[in-house]
Amino acid sequence: MSTEKPEQREKVVIIGSGPAGLTAAMYTGRAMLSPVVITGGQLGGQIANSSEVENYPAFDEVVSGQELIDHMVKQAEKFDARLDYDFVTSVDFSTGTPFTVETYGKKYIADTVIVTSGASPRKLGIPGEDKFWGKGVSTCGTCDGFFYRGRKVVVIGGGDSAMEEGLFLTKFASEVQVIHRRDALRAGPQLQKRAFANEKMTFTWDTVAEEVLGEDTVTGVRLRNVKTNEVSEINTDGFFLFIGHIPNSQIFTGQLETDEEGFVIVDELMRTSVEGVFAAGEIQDAIYRQVATSVGQGCAAAMSAERWLASQE
Ligand SMILES: Cc1cc2nc3c(=O)[nH]c(=O)nc-3n(C[C@H](O)[C@H](O)[C@H](O)COP(=O)(O)OP(=O)(O)OC[C@H]3O[C@@H](n4cnc5c(N)ncnc54)[C@H](O)[C@@H]3O)c2cc1C
Repeated sequence: MSTEKPEQREKVVIIGSGPAGLTAAMYTGRAMLSPVVITGGQLGGQIANSSEVENYPAFDEVVSGQELIDHMVKQAEKFDARLDYDFVTSVDFSTGTPFTVETYGKKYIADTVIVTSGASPRKLGIPGEDKFWGKGVSTCGTCDGFFYRGRKVVVIGGGDSAMEEGLFLTKFASEVQVIHRRDALRAGPQLQKRAFANEKMTFTWDTVAEEVLGEDTVTGVRLRNVKTNEVSEINTDGFFLFIGHIPNSQIFTGQLETDEEGFVIVDELMRTSVEGVFAAGEIQDAIYRQVATSVGQGCAAAMSAERWLASQE
């Protein structure tokens, strides 16, 4: 029996089906390029897990992430984008166009590739973290802070993003308790100054979270002091993790230029280090990490890919 995978020739292959990928699909679909979107494990990407989104333009009422994604899929399919519910296992960009993109089931040969495989928030891997994901456990203060008006939240982390997001959360929360495993912050001096000056922010040093507690939603956290080993429990309504993001770029190692954290490097036209391969969304954005920005970058990458294809004819 042959183990060769079937080959499929395509003009445009999009890796990932989050907001960036689905937008790129809609744009390249409208350009009559009939793109294929390889969905990966999570159709819709990270936002599909969020129950309430209220900062995506044109939706003036709260919308669920899933509903947003349903609209994006419908719109992309309307323009003949096709979804392949599979996962990219390897790519070969070394030959130049056409490129090889291999999934569990197929080998795609594509004129151009748009990489939108996103990023995954770094997790602690403690009990309760997955159970309450999106129900009190969050990695996005900008997205979810509004839901904690007058309530107490815990912030895990001591870097710039933990302080920035923590300060943002003080606009809504009654208290923001920062839990940090060291005895000093890593955040820049200006941010530290603002954080220490904010009366809603409190700091618990030399301490790690060991379990997120609750029944249906988060009600508390079990903590351990790393110096004394003393264990304690505190009450909280929200558990915000800001310990970094991991770009889903492992399959591009040695194929695309990345920064030291693994984010794919692009120029202002969303071009990667390989001519004919473009990238958009959180796979190349460690800063903004929003649906709106990912959608904009997906649009830009699609337009660049379309123009690049036209220039090859
Ligand atoms: C809980 C939560 C709430 C949020 N709330 C908001 C909010 O209210 N407003 C807001 O603007 N932003 C919010 N965000 C951020 C927002 O979800 C992201 O900025 C956005 O989803 C990034 O889109 P993306 O398309 O770049 O990547 P992602 O959403 O990360 O999608 C990546 C896609 O790539 C796929 N993929 C990964 N690896 C492979 C592979 N090897 N092969 C094929 N496919 C692959 C995945 O299956 C997925 O479809 C929230 C994030 C979280 C986690």
